[in-house]
Amino acid sequence: MAEATSRLRTNTAQTEDTTSQPTIEEDTHKEDAEAIVEDGGNPECPDCGGMLVLQEGCKKCPECGWSKC
Ligand SMILES: [Zn+2]
Repeated sequence: MAEATSRLRTNTAQTEDTTSQPTIEEDTHKEDAEAIVEDGGNPECPDCGGMLVLQEGCKKCPECGWSKC
């Protein structure tokens, strides 16, 4: 009975959250891949094809643990 009302409220709150939430994580990953490409490297893992990230000057794959310095 009260279910319909609470469901409506949830939908409204979710819409507001999506609009005001910045996508910080996606931006960080994009910068890592772009930095690798600018460095003359492949931003994709040769083992699993996952997106590599730069850590302490090394390329690392968060998916399978592959890394190269
Ligand atoms: Zn990998």
